[in-house]
Amino acid sequence: MPPESAPDWLAGGWPHIWLPYTQMQTAAPPLPVTGAKGSKIKLADGRELIDGIASWWSMCHGYQHPHIVGAIREQAARLSHVMLGGLAHEQAFTLARRLSALAPEGLTRVFFSDSGSVAVEVALKMALQYWRNQGDHRRTKFIGFERGYHGDTLGAMSVSARSPFTAAFDAASLRNYSLPIPSDEYGFAEFAETIGAIHTQVAGLIMEPLVQCAGGFAMHSADIVSEIRRVCRDYGILFIADEVATGFGRTGSMFACNEAAVTPDILCLGKALTGGHLPLAATLATDAVFDAFGGDTISKAFMHGPTFMGNPLACAAANASLDLFAREPRLAQVEAIEAALFTGLSPLTRHARVREVRIKGAIGAVDLDYTPEEFARARAALIAEGVWLRPLGKALYLMPPLTITPEELQHLLTAMHKVLTQ
Ligand SMILES: *Cc1c(COP(=O)(O)O)cnc(C)c1O
Repeated sequence: MPPESAPDWLAGGWPHIWLPYTQMQTAAPPLPVTGAKGSKIKLADGRELIDGIASWWSMCHGYQHPHIVGAIREQAARLSHVMLGGLAHEQAFTLARRLSALAPEGLTRVFFSDSGSVAVEVALKMALQYWRNQGDHRRTKFIGFERGYHGDTLGAMSVSARSPFTAAFDAASLRNYSLPIPSDEYGFAEFAETIGAIHTQVAGLIMEPLVQCAGGFAMHSADIVSEIRRVCRDYGILFIADEVATGFGRTGSMFACNEAAVTPDILCLGKALTGGHLPLAATLATDAVFDAFGGDTISKAFMHGPTFMGNPLACAAANASLDLFAREPRLAQVEAIEAALFTGLSPLTRHARVREVRIKGAIGAVDLDYTPEEFARARAALIAEGVWLRPLGKALYLMPPLTITPEELQHLLTAMHKVLTQ
């Protein structure tokens, strides 16, 4: 039951709402939010929390950014929605042009959808039909990596690692290959050998370049990404980069693929695409992928089309977000965040309960050997310190808005220290 002080709408909706990843029988009602600005979330009781995870990593310019809110408002006054089947509008076409100019070179085509999971579904369907259109009916499987996470829909779960996210649905999973990311223990020779043995059945390989986020923030080098990309090219496997989390500066370059100097065959974007202000995702493809869909009949055309594809409000928000990336020093801000994370989080490795600290760009993960109860206590203690964090698996992590001020970031780090050493 919500506390007496909760707003009426919370108490009224509580018996009806069904929340994400939540055991509704034992869950406490969530904190009611009445507004947000910059890096701060405002609660109904007047408290403010600094958001250390940018609303699931999407809010890259901070909440209620006036340039984005203004663009949405202006677009809403003119055209809030129109179908993209047979009709065109400026925001989607402009965004397609801008995204292909910004993305790793060669990704010339942009297919819009509404969520990261669907952007991944679209990528998988593109890869399957790419081979079929060329008369290859054997390449029907995918390679994903251990600890990978690509979304919650069935296809996306099928290429993700088995985890608590997928456990209830594994029986319905498409049969795919799950490999470790190459490392000192599992070298490239062995990786290439595995690929060599299965490649004739493989349509594509999907990976989160540099940082596997929701699977627990495992990190690997840019060299590993470029080497995996090379093996894919050698064996004719489509290389699909899922940058739903890493895209838009999060790892220190505009896209993680940039740091590895690779162009994927297919690129998935979401989360921070609209600066977190509205749902939108995109799947980008090269000319070589796109050209396989050409022909005289509909049978080779790509058969996918979400109802709200290329929604004008969402595309206006994304165009405004790209304006901000062009005119404000986001990548320099990421560099400063990374330096502060190194200074602030590295000393935690001395703490007995801390297993490991990993940092890349504006991502800092601290693995703890906590029980779920201890994580829940830490979360409550952080809220008391004015901080919003949500542990993921064994990690307490920071992925703040890229615009977070040095003082706010210091507040997050100090609160983490305090709570972990209590
Ligand atoms: C969050 C995420 C997704 C899924 O995006 P949704 O918008 O939640 O459907 C897919 N891939 C990666 C890498 C993600 O982090």
